[in-house]
Formats: sequence, C-alpha cells, structure tokens
Amino acid sequence: MKKHNFSAGPCILPKEVLQKASEAVINFNDSGLSLIEISHRSKDFVDVMDTAQSLALELLGLKDKGYKALFLQGGASMQFLMTAYNLLESKAGYLNTGTWSDKAIKEAKFFGEVVEVRSSKDKDFNYIPKNYMVPSDLDYFHLTSNNTIFGTQVKEFPKTKIPMVCDMSSDIFSRVLDFSQFDLIYAGAQKNMGPAGATLVVVKEDILGKVSRQIPSMLDYKVHISKESMFNTPPVFAVYVSMLTLQWLKNLGGVKAIEEINNKKAQLLYSEIDLNPLFKGYAEKADRSLMNATFTLTDESLKNSFEAMCKEAGINGINGHRSVGGYRASMYNALSLDSVGVLVDVMSDLERNA
Ligand SMILES: *Cc1c(COP(=O)(O)O)cnc(C)c1O
Repeated sequence: MKKHNFSAGPCILPKEVLQKASEAVINFNDSGLSLIEISHRSKDFVDVMDTAQSLALELLGLKDKGYKALFLQGGASMQFLMTAYNLLESKAGYLNTGTWSDKAIKEAKFFGEVVEVRSSKDKDFNYIPKNYMVPSDLDYFHLTSNNTIFGTQVKEFPKTKIPMVCDMSSDIFSRVLDFSQFDLIYAGAQKNMGPAGATLVVVKEDILGKVSRQIPSMLDYKVHISKESMFNTPPVFAVYVSMLTLQWLKNLGGVKAIEEINNKKAQLLYSEIDLNPLFKGYAEKADRSLMNATFTLTDESLKNSFEAMCKEAGINGINGHRSVGGYRASMYNALSLDSVGVLVDVMSDLERNA
C-alpha cells in the first residue's frame, strides 16, 4: 500500500533519489564497487562532493558571491556551537522562536555574551516576534527560519548590517528568499535534502577569521574550506544522496518551482484546518510554516478514530512533537500534493462521520 510520509525528520525523499542511491550502494557509476567502499579521494567521489557543493550554491542563487558551501558532520546541533566558536568575539544576538533557537543560545553562551533580542516564549512559541531592532553592537544575529516543532516560519527577515546567521534545517530549498542577506546558513540534511549525517553550511568567506581565539581544526570553517569538505572522511553516502536530491530539485525547475508546489500543499491543508470545526491550528495564521503544519483535535474523544483512519489511508508520521502534542504534518519538498490531499480527505471524512 502506498504510504504518505509526513514525518518531521528524518523524512521523505524523492522515490527516484532513493532508487538511484540504492543502486549506487551496490554498483557506483558502473565501477563494480559500492559508493560506500571506495576512497573519498577517488575522482568519482570528489566529483560528487564538487557537484553537491556547487548545486547548493546555484540553487540558493549564491554562486560567485563570495560564499562557500561545505558538507560537514555533527548535524545542525554541531553548528549551534561551531557558529559561535568561529564568529562570537564579544556579543551575539538571538531571536528565540522555540526549542532549536533555545539550544543554539545555550551553546553560544560558552563563547561570549548572548542577548535574546526577542522571544515568543510568552505564547509557547506559536508566533514569530516582529518589529524588533537588531542591536548594532553584535558580532552576529542568529535566527531559525522555520520552527520545525511549533510550526512557525519567519516570513520577513530584519534589515540589518550585522552579519546574519540562519538555521534553515527544516526549510532550506523550499522557498525563494534573497539568500545573500545571510552571511552563514546551516541545515542538517535530514529534513529537506538527504539522509542524516551530513550538514550543509553556506558561509560568506569574509566573515571568518575575525575572532581572537584559537579554533580546533575540526571546528574551524576555514580549515574545511581550504580542504573542500575533505579535511577528514566525509559522510559519503549522505553527501551523495544530498547531491541526488539537489539534482532532482534543479531538474524540477529549482527553488521557485518547488515553492509553488509547497504553497499549494500548505494552502490545501491549512484551509481544511480552518474550515473543519474538528481541528484547530496551533501557530498564528500569519506565521504558519509551509513545511510543518501543527494542529490539534477540538474534540479529544475523536483521537482514536482519527488515528485509525489515518493509518488505514497509509498516512505516516503526523504525531506532534512530544513537547507540543497534537499533530504535525510535515510537507517537505518531496511530499506530493496528492499525499496532502489524502490527509485532507481523512480530515473531512472524520467531520462527515462525526
Ligand atoms: C532538526 C533540527 C535541528 C537539529 O538537527 P540535528 O541535525 O539533529 O542536530 C536543528 N534546527 C532545526 C530547525 C531543526 O529542524
């Protein structure tokens, strides 16, 4: 039976990507060898790394603009500390929009003063703070573009001369933005790009080298740039699958084309959430995420029927994060509009039968 995978992460990847990846595990580029048993310094793999890095910059519109793309390890969680290690000399500002920003703030505090410029904690992170000023004395300002757990998304970024660092783990390559407004973007692969194990970092080179502390090699962006993400053995499989996903996205027409589809998916689901009296959205409407829709049942006694109907329809992974409860339907790039349609049909069937 066809499954509709709404999992928040690791999450759905395009079928054709999984097909190609599984072939490469047995016989990579007709070499008679597996992708995961050859040298990462072989020409075949170096080509994969180069292509992945170059596609990432191309899809973000950041080619030839002073940026480097890196594939590192340790997940987005490693970037919470690595960004501060490399950029925080005296003071950094953070927008606190939920669990992930909170964790980033905690790590940054090991390296200097951290100011929470604004927080949406007062309403359990169901909105994005707006109309705030970014202080002018910061080394950088950090935000999380999409709050995977609470289902909110930053729609407008502040205009500031301070370098901006953005955790885009759960919405990178999903919508058109002027990515050149950011000086450093990072994203764990497993939300919208590939398997867990690789983390994409896109960094503007001229913001590096300004802190006075010594940085251990593995945590130094400059080292990884000079070694083209091959300072140590990279996660070859995760980089390869990420490359395939980026190629898939490029063939589809790039970020602009996927954004149109993502908008349709989100519209379809949110309009059902708003029209169906059995459901209630969690995030404030203006701040709703196109990637992760969070909602609850208005009548808890329908929980078992709703979940049984979802299971029957092949819907997977819509339970809310353990810290929020309710439901969360993640609609990453590879999820089809049809899958959202199946979920919406279940929701309206529940209303009809209730
Ligand atoms: C999932 C997620 C993380 C954590 O990623 P790891 O790769 O598991 O460290 C960080 N930030 C955001 C926005 C996420 O969605």
